[in-house]
Amino acid sequence: MQLPATGRPWDEVKKDLLDRGGNDAKWRDGKTAVYVFNAGEDIAAVQKEAYTAYMSENGLGPAAFPSLAQMEKDVISMALGVLHGPEGGTGAMTSGGTDSITMAIKAARDYARAGGRALEKGNIVVPQSAHLAFDKACHLMDIELRRIALKTDDTFEADVEAMESACDAETIMMVGSAPNFPHGIVDPIAALGEAAQRKGVWLHVDACVGGYFAPFARMNGVPVPAFDFEVPAVKSMSADLHKYGYAAKGASTVLFRTEELYKHMPFDFSCWSGAPMTTPTLAGTRPGGAIAAAWSVMNYLGVDGYCRLQGEVCATRERVEEGVKALGFEILGNPILGLIAFSHPEHHALALYGAMYRRGWFTSVTIEPPSLHLMLSPRHADFIDAYLEDLAACASAVAAGEDGKGAEKVEARYS
Ligand SMILES: *Cc1c(COP(=O)(O)O)cnc(C)c1O
Repeated sequence: MQLPATGRPWDEVKKDLLDRGGNDAKWRDGKTAVYVFNAGEDIAAVQKEAYTAYMSENGLGPAAFPSLAQMEKDVISMALGVLHGPEGGTGAMTSGGTDSITMAIKAARDYARAGGRALEKGNIVVPQSAHLAFDKACHLMDIELRRIALKTDDTFEADVEAMESACDAETIMMVGSAPNFPHGIVDPIAALGEAAQRKGVWLHVDACVGGYFAPFARMNGVPVPAFDFEVPAVKSMSADLHKYGYAAKGASTVLFRTEELYKHMPFDFSCWSGAPMTTPTLAGTRPGGAIAAAWSVMNYLGVDGYCRLQGEVCATRERVEEGVKALGFEILGNPILGLIAFSHPEHHALALYGAMYRRGWFTSVTIEPPSLHLMLSPRHADFIDAYLEDLAACASAVAAGEDGKGAEKVEARYS
């Protein structure tokens, strides 16, 4: 497309715009279990109205928009409130999990340097299941990343001992996930905390997908192990609002145990032709809409709202567990939140993935080991029986050699 020489009327552009969604994944019909968190129309309406109300405002200018500055403070305070944030804990809103993780690493590195550590490159020790955002951040900052194989006992948990052994004088951070994305498993954060303390290393908990889920699951009686600032060695956390916080996209939080740790995150600069500027995160301009929508959804839902929604997601996950086990699948580890991965001892996971995809299901896959992967939303409660029916049909078709086509293509894409 070229920029049109003359503009077109909005009703015409709008029709074109909406038509373009015609071939997108059918998430409104519950057929997508990745990318979108569908918590219902009321929450979507809150997101939309709140976002548009502050769409033009800019979080870069707290003096111009004290509204946004206060909303961000409120969001951080609410976040710390559900994650055992200690007195003096602090943080910032970011554009997403990748941004939160990048900034936590930047803070840890600058903290190490400020403490007099002469780092060559510095390194970070993470479990093999940690999100690739850590690799991206390390690539950007030229830090070495050490991925350590998981325990070999089918728990899909981080191997704390091996991670501890991988730390050396250059290590600036250890990482655990709560939960990890590929298997949905919460790493043994308390044990990682003890290891981090023995090594004198900063422990970051990546709760991007669990930070606004696990606390409420626990309130519902799910036996969630200690994973947040309750563990004394945890120095920072990443927790995404645009996932199970049900906020509009472009909203995450990065949290720090103390102001002393946090102060290594913001970028403060005055040696250029323009006015001095301080930016807390990777972004310059920060969308006011994302801040306003997160603040509004949190207030709209409250503790009881999150407990209800996360309870629905856990109930759906239990139905998936029962359903896929009945079809002969095995669940990877012991997932307790909203993510689940499962594989079949006989059927090729990627062939099944392809067959399900052709029936309109857009989900994810886990590669180690090859498995089907679901990230469940509250609205999936209404669609999971249909998913299981299609899965049964696809498993038979794949077993009969009738619907294996495309497996190579999927395999090539994912390996
Ligand atoms: C989604 C996710 C991230 C990255 O978050 P983005 O918002 O996609 O940048 C990091 N870690 C985990 C565990 C995640 O699930």
